[in-house]
Amino acid sequence: MLVLQDVNVYYGAIHALKGISMEVNEGEIVTLIGSNGAGKSTSLKTISGLLRPKEGNIKFNGIDLAHVPPQKIVSLGISQVPEGRRVFTNMSVLENLELGAYLRKEKSEIKKDIEKVYSLFPRLLERKGQLAGTLSGGEQQMLAMGRALMSRPKLVLLDEPSMGLAPILVKQIFSIIQEINKTGTTVLLVEQNAHMALSIADRAYVLETGKIVLSGSANELESSEEVRKAYLGG
Ligand code: ATP
Repeated sequence: MLVLQDVNVYYGAIHALKGISMEVNEGEIVTLIGSNGAGKSTSLKTISGLLRPKEGNIKFNGIDLAHVPPQKIVSLGISQVPEGRRVFTNMSVLENLELGAYLRKEKSEIKKDIEKVYSLFPRLLERKGQLAGTLSGGEQQMLAMGRALMSRPKLVLLDEPSMGLAPILVKQIFSIIQEINKTGTTVLLVEQNAHMALSIADRAYVLETGKIVLSGSANELESSEEVRKAYLGG
């Protein structure tokens, strides 16, 4: 479904991604793990078209994304949940969800999808009129995920959904990610919490200073000594 080939991304003189190649197959949960500054967010932003590779290419269902503008990438079926949630703080929960569907026209279908998001995240239904800026961190994560689902993505890019959340909420969010995947959405998950990410993923890539240093099935990586030492606390 998604193929990255030898992707190089720079911020000015900083060479942030140094020839990344990876793929995500339809139906999978794939995780990209790595420590701070490894290039995880940069990878997602490059896939969603917010950054452009200087070299290399990215294909989604066979379509070269090189010159496709970000909003068109959303309508092709890729939706990103950014790091730090980035909900529209002065708008209500419902308005945030409606904005997630801004490229779509069919009102009744949009309404149905809002109901689906509420059934996935009952907490959002309880808070539908509340300003997003006053939600808790976990609720904002739910809203950011719900908003991303409103474009009916084939592939959802999740940037560190566990960040800043209590362990019990992290568990809840990860089980919802599995549920989203079961209903047919492919997931590319970026995480520092390697343990949680590997527990739900099919396959994983390990990123270190802009390079993929390891890849394999989630089980293989979980039992790899290198990964255990560097990312799973021994
Ligand atoms: P974290 O888990 O801390 O978010 P990350 O793996 O997502 O880390 P990136 O945010 O992708 O890492 O950053 C990769 C590298 O690119 C880092 O060295 C970072 O300092 C650099 N970088 C990121 N954004 C910019 C920017 N806007 N300008 C210059 N350098 C940047």
